[in-house]
Amino acid sequence: MAKAQNREWVSLQCPDCGNRNYRKPRRTRGEYKLNISKYCPACRTHKVHKEKKK
Ligand SMILES: [Zn+2]
Repeated sequence: MAKAQNREWVSLQCPDCGNRNYRKPRRTRGEYKLNISKYCPACRTHKVHKEKKK
């Protein structure tokens, strides 16, 4: 079983309004996307969110 204790959470921040709309567990191993297109309710459209550490 994988250890869930080491899980790190990152926020996905909208570059335009600065809202942190999503959180997701950061993967410590392997590749992961730094920029993810997500819907921002403040901008009312999809924006490329960037990962931010809390
Ligand atoms: Zn936004």
